[in-house]
Amino acid sequence: MSNVVLKLSSQEMRKMMEYYQNNLTGKAPPGGLFSAKTPQCTITAYKSGKVLFQGSGCNEEARKWGSDAVEKTETKAKTPATPKISASLPNNISSLSAIGSDEVGTGDFFGPITVCAAYVRKEDMPLLKEIGVQDSKNLTDEKISTIAKQLIKFLPYSLLVLHNVKYNKLQSSGMSQGKMKALLHNQAIGHLLEKLAPEKPEAILIDQFAKEEVYFKYLSGQKVIHKENVYFSTKAEGIHLAVAAASIIARHAFVQHFEKLSKAAGFKIPKGAGSQVDVAAARLIKEKGKEVLPSYVKLHFANTEKAMNLLRKSK
Ligand code: MN
Repeated sequence: MSNVVLKLSSQEMRKMMEYYQNNLTGKAPPGGLFSAKTPQCTITAYKSGKVLFQGSGCNEEARKWGSDAVEKTETKAKTPATPKISASLPNNISSLSAIGSDEVGTGDFFGPITVCAAYVRKEDMPLLKEIGVQDSKNLTDEKISTIAKQLIKFLPYSLLVLHNVKYNKLQSSGMSQGKMKALLHNQAIGHLLEKLAPEKPEAILIDQFAKEEVYFKYLSGQKVIHKENVYFSTKAEGIHLAVAAASIIARHAFVQHFEKLSKAAGFKIPKGAGSQVDVAAARLIKEKGKEVLPSYVKLHFANTEKAMNLLRKSK
């Protein structure tokens, strides 16, 4: 499927809306002005002034509105711009209707682990690009939150939050973080598959945190193990928009929870696992007592010991 994007003035947009008034679908996407459908083309106009033409008749339709403004976009199915797709993945995976799954918070001393599985149909891809979905590592937390709020309005997804108390309980009972992640991904994917049924994704892509056989070993003994069409790749955010979207939603949830923790602590809690979190944890213990720590941090991190050392020194 090909796309054409035009950038038009607000005057031209009004003209256009008039022109398509008998074809309006009444379902404008987030950030959208209107959406219209002709037999060979779907037209979506955005408040930004961009108009997206999709479908076999898109070139012809767009030409009515001035081809000199055409922004050269073609579906990237043939030539994926970003990471190389490993041989174990279908080579057209980027353009399949797929579930993507990713997690956030595993390396942060403070805060939970959030895992999100999100479903992106091929026809939703241009909209996701328009909204600004991309590798969350290139986005600020602010931008992530803006995009996430739009995504959760229409994108099918499942979000899981493993809070610190539960995390610490599982960890001290001997469960590795890898196994926790595998269980969360499997569960989020399961929830989402249930939501989607009877529709089935063409692929499920997990941002890889363990080798495939290790992932499935973690899941052994589980009642339901989702295996069908499941693929793994590192840097999967750059391979499929569903992973990028999942990552944005997971990150947004993580940041929101982090803000709650800061509020409860009474001061701004830092991210990561560097020396600044040792200082913050020491302050937290000093002000609230050691017993609150399990609901704020991942206790088994070396930072716990470092925070205790800082406290001892300050006495
Ligand atoms: Mn990841």
